Amino acid sequence: MHRSGATMAWNVFKFCTALRALGSIMILLVLGVVGVTYYAVVLNTYGPALYAGGFDFLVAFVVLILFHSLLVMLLWSYFAAVFTDPGSVPPNWRPAIDEEIGEANPLVGSDLNNDVPSDSSHQRIRYCRKCNQVKPPRCHHCSLCGRCVLKMDHHCVWVVNCVGALNYKYFLLFLFYTFLETTLVTASLLPLFLAFFSDGEIPGSPGSLATTFLAFVLDLAFALSVLGFLIMHISLVASNTTTIEAYEKKTTPKWPYDLGRRKNFEQVFGMDKRYWFIPAYSEEDIRRMPALQGLDYPSKPDFNSQ
Ligand SMILES: [Zn+2]
Ligand SMILES: [Zn+2]
Repeated sequence: MHRSGATMAWNVFKFCTALRALGSIMILLVLGVVGVTYYAVVLNTYGPALYAGGFDFLVAFVVLILFHSLLVMLLWSYFAAVFTDPGSVPPNWRPAIDEEIGEANPLVGSDLNNDVPSDSSHQRIRYCRKCNQVKPPRCHHCSLCGRCVLKMDHHCVWVVNCVGALNYKYFLLFLFYTFLETTLVTASLLPLFLAFFSDGEIPGSPGSLATTFLAFVLDLAFALSVLGFLIMHISLVASNTTTIEAYEKKTTPKWPYDLGRRKNFEQVFGMDKRYWFIPAYSEEDIRRMPALQGLDYPSKPDFNSQ
């Protein structure tokens, strides 16, 4: 599951990289797909069906309520991912590495501290030559943004932004709501799509039929590709790994940040259940969970002794 998901998403990742030159046009593309879908579902199909009465009214009512609710959540998550800074390194940031090694390994004498074991890669001091600064753990330099990004996952053109510590949750919610919305649209336009291939009379102008056809194909394509991406990110969140780290991990099998599914999930979505499905964090979570600020990540207590 993890492997096939990673392969699928790697293709999407490469696709994103190939499209990077398009820049902000991607926002217009996303809004264009939303517009075509809105026309097909609301204005052309289920809006008029509200006047039909009876069972058709009931179906149209439910579809329209779901469609608009998901659309609000999708756009809210999308623009949160677009406009939230993924996290940059504070000026003069320094790791508290000496105390950490001293406290975590009381049996190791101070004369051995220079010889840090190679498998504790998270404790190695990393330096970015382009930014001329020390890198916090899990931080990576993004060549597109031209700066170091905290817990960088990947740079994706769909949100015209890096996905990192402070907007990863918003990006995941965008994927989640996009999958639900496009699946709803595909299912609700399926009867019309099938009618194209039947002999029966189909109501509507050629233009509106073409738009409905286009919306069905677009939303089906998005539902399928987002599903692959979503499955991969669910397995990444469950193992507390970023997309970049998933490729680095091939050489370092031990993973210090994996604290179990529940804690790994909370490090991305927060501990407050009321905030899990909206692109925001409670102030208390930001205060009590250093991982949400992107500079300090708890690791397995037994990791140093292994
Ligand atoms: Zn850098
Ligand atoms: Zn970037």
